[in-house]
Amino acid sequence: MALLQISEPGMSAAPHKHNLAVGIDLGTTNSLVATVRSGMSTVLQDEHGHALLPSVVRYLENNGVEVGHDAQAQQSTDPTNTIVSVKRFMGRGLKDIANRAHIPYRFVENTNKESNGMLQIETRVGNKSPVEISAEILKTLRTRAEKALGGELTGAVITVPAYFDEAQRQATKDAARLAGIHVLRLLNEPTAAAVAYGLDNASEGVYVIYDLGGGTFDISVLRLSKGVFEVLATNGDSALGGDDFDHRIFCWILDQIRLKVPNFSPLSEEDTRLLLTKSRQAKEWLTDNYESQITCKLSNGYFVDITLNVSQFNEFTQNLVSKTLNPTRKAIRDAGLSLDEINGVVLVGGATRMPHIRHAVADFFKQEPLTNLDPDKVVALGAAIQANVLAGNRSDKDLLLLDVTPLSLGLETMGGLVEKIIPRNATLPVARAQEFTTFKDGQTAMSFHVLQGERELVSDCRSLAKFELRGIPPMAAGAARIRVTFQIDADGLLSVSAKEQTSGLESHVVVKPSYGLSDEEIGNMLKSSFLAAENDKQARAVREAQVEAARLLESITFAMDQDADKILSPDEKEAIYSQMEALKEIMKSDDSQAINRATEKLNKSTESFAARRMDASVTKALAGQNLDSLEI
Ligand code: ADP
Ligand code: MG
Repeated sequence: MALLQISEPGMSAAPHKHNLAVGIDLGTTNSLVATVRSGMSTVLQDEHGHALLPSVVRYLENNGVEVGHDAQAQQSTDPTNTIVSVKRFMGRGLKDIANRAHIPYRFVENTNKESNGMLQIETRVGNKSPVEISAEILKTLRTRAEKALGGELTGAVITVPAYFDEAQRQATKDAARLAGIHVLRLLNEPTAAAVAYGLDNASEGVYVIYDLGGGTFDISVLRLSKGVFEVLATNGDSALGGDDFDHRIFCWILDQIRLKVPNFSPLSEEDTRLLLTKSRQAKEWLTDNYESQITCKLSNGYFVDITLNVSQFNEFTQNLVSKTLNPTRKAIRDAGLSLDEINGVVLVGGATRMPHIRHAVADFFKQEPLTNLDPDKVVALGAAIQANVLAGNRSDKDLLLLDVTPLSLGLETMGGLVEKIIPRNATLPVARAQEFTTFKDGQTAMSFHVLQGERELVSDCRSLAKFELRGIPPMAAGAARIRVTFQIDADGLLSVSAKEQTSGLESHVVVKPSYGLSDEEIGNMLKSSFLAAENDKQARAVREAQVEAARLLESITFAMDQDADKILSPDEKEAIYSQMEALKEIMKSDDSQAINRATEKLNKSTESFAARRMDASVTKALAGQNLDSLEI
């Protein structure tokens, strides 16, 4: 029989066990895994000494899978089975990618009901979802980490862009689960970068994270206060990154060739890939060198041999550099800040190694950006630090970073209005509750519609989920008390529950929205909410007036049907009916004040009817009872 290990209550049986936890940067172009070793955050390398794992997955004929450099090398020979930039499709439906005609893959809609219309990519081994493809990248990183650390991982912190919505975050978690990785926390990429620089050790501050990766540009403004990073604003360009600089060099090479050979034939797919790869190498070389020699042989036998120097490169890419400054300006404006209020600027993403980017950023912010950590590793390094804390390897006094909700969350109420329950920028995890009541007498069911967005009307917000609470005991309108709780966990995932307070009846839904929102959509939703604030206020007033009027009409109609003939004279009856008609007519207008006046008038003129009804029902109830049996 095995011996049981006994420990004092409150004491751990193995007090010095170090939990193996890693930080993972699941990037669009490159992914990395890092861990804290002897107190230092370090990126783990593969057996060839590579730290960066290209986020490329290739499905082979024999059901095998290649991930990383090997897959990347086959991109031009096997484009439809070699998936790059899969992160762009995480948590997305076909509808979300309608205008991406240049992508070589065939997309299909996932017919599995559970998947809520998410897309899949057709490959030679069947349809693959972005979640499955990302899981291959994560599996490779997990294997790398377990080899390097000599044991099974306890868990990982995985980073996601700050603007990732519920669906995209959920997809990332699903991919981790598929890869057998326990997710300790999803962390915003800019927050991870700030942690890597130890900015969370300061007490307060506003920081800008400028992230130029392979194909995306993200700018985030963070405010640190009381140990919590709050995202004040995000902006960017989802179609701007290091790849565009490669493309400019590629075009320049073609121009040079055509100067020498005017009727040079169009390039094959493979030559295009080859020249793009050469262009990327030249770009990276020019970061530390004055000039770059570009040589290669094309399939038609033509030998390319050109020299590109830094000033030429800077000249024909300067407008790409400037292109990053517009979103930067907007983010700072949205955050309501001036440049001198910014305490620090962090450079993230391999493309920020380029000297002209660094100069442009320093010029713009009038301060030197933080660059002493490798910009393409900084997100993974910060995630590892966070993972180390969450896995319990450091004392609890180390603060746990929190993120915030990008958009408000709320419920539909009568009249197509949205009642916000959790406001935008609430720090996570968060739970908020609010009480609602029934609209009609004897109402036994209530339906809940969960929405995301800043606008007042349901039609202007995004629908996330619907659920119902059935079996409410019949009560008078307004008597039931239904408490609705919105809860968002530390990863930004939402669950909503509704509980009828007197009966204890409960119902809930975990929100897995059918489609994600793109960063542009989030931006647009915010923008339109600012622009529409005044209109929305009016629309809300009208809807509220209409709901009030409908409520009164409903109860008077009921009362009239029951008692009008018994209590009212024909004239009185006629007067009330005509006022009801008048209110019904005015309700159709969008004049909230007129509706309110008509409602008030009807209310007043039915007061005596209501009083007489009350008397009548009391008399009826009392009839035949003696005073002793009444509990007064
Ligand atoms: P992502 O966040 O999109 O996964 P990365 O942060 O890894 O991407 O950035 C990848 C980009 O960085 C590529 O375009 C790559 O060419 C570029 N890059 C990497 N090293 C250098 C360098 N030394 N000079 C210029 N660009 C570089
Ligand atoms: Mg990145």
